[in-house]
This record gives sequence, C-alpha cells and structure tokens, in this order.
Amino acid sequence: MNFSSRLLENAVTEFSKLPGIGQKTALRLVLHLLNQPTQDVERFSDALTRLKKEIRFCEVCKNISDNSICEICSSRKRDKSLVCLVEDTRDVMAIENTNQYNGVYHVLGGLISPMDGVGPSDLNIDSIVERVKAGEIQEVILALSATMEGDTTIFYLYKKLKDFPVKFSTIARGIAFGGEIEYVDEITLGRSIVTRVPYETSLR
Ligand SMILES: [Zn+2]
Repeated sequence: MNFSSRLLENAVTEFSKLPGIGQKTALRLVLHLLNQPTQDVERFSDALTRLKKEIRFCEVCKNISDNSICEICSSRKRDKSLVCLVEDTRDVMAIENTNQYNGVYHVLGGLISPMDGVGPSDLNIDSIVERVKAGEIQEVILALSATMEGDTTIFYLYKKLKDFPVKFSTIARGIAFGGEIEYVDEITLGRSIVTRVPYETSLR
C-alpha cells in the first residue's frame, strides 16, 4: 500500500496488527477515526491506554478485575468449594451469562501448547495448585476447549491435582469455548455445566 502520509501509514500499521484485521480494514477504521471529533478519538485512545496501564488481575482467580480481589471471589453468595478452570476471561463471561453456575473460577491465561512455546510455567497453574492445597475446594470443573491444547492442559492439571481430595468433572466435550463461544447459546452452555460428568469417566 502506498500511503500519502507517514502518520496515516503508522496508524494503519498498528491497526493491522490486531487479529483478523487486514490492511484494507485497518485503513477503513483509521479513516473513520480521522473523521470523528478530536475528543472522541482521545476518549478512544485513552480507554486503551488506561486499560493496559490500570488493569489488574484478581489475586485469587487471576481473572481481569478492577480490584485486587474480583467481585466473584469476594462475593459471599458464591460457593467457594466449587472452582471452574477456564482458559481466559471470555469463558468466565460466557459462563456467567448462563446464570447456571454459582461457584468460583480459576483463569489459566492460556493453554499448554508446545508448538507455540507455551509451557505450564507460562500459565496460572501453580496458583490453582496452591488453592486446592489450601483445602476449601471440593470439586474442580475442567472447562477447557475440546482441542489438542485443551486436552493436553486438562491432563497436565489432572496429574498435578489428582492426589488431593477433590472431585474432577468436565463439561460436555464438543462445547465450543472462548473464541468460539458466540456459536454456543447460553442454554446449551448452561446445561453442560449443570450436567457435567466426572473426569475419570471420560478417561475410559
Ligand atoms: Zn477472583
């Protein structure tokens, strides 16, 4: 692409680094922003800068949070003996939207993927081991996507945690998760949490 302006080119380059955004789309978005009032564009860039600088992760469940302990972990209404292990914050949002789950979460921050150079130490795994070790948790729901990375991660976690006195369960496999969640309706996801099955059964 030949740009008439270096400033325009810089902005398009930054936008096209986003997932799913090609150069043409990036150019369209940048030109759109250019047509907006200055204060709108400032609000846009300010929201991103503040998001990155001020965002925190819950000290307990590692979910994105405005406070050191998130609302779910600090709620007295939630069942702290039940923890749902998920890949990222999108999964927490999807499960919360079902209104079928009253336990707490643990956000791994990704899945084990040797191909992408992601190992167990890159994920929030030590912290879930510590939580289980602390003794309050009685059931761990392994709610990761039905992919090779999801399976690898589930098996790794199971090996790490299986000697503690906790139950393991999984949601119905084939339920698309995270990035694919928009294709799953809330009723299906909610039902799969309610009808979760013991993990040991699915190993056979
Ligand atoms: Zn939390």
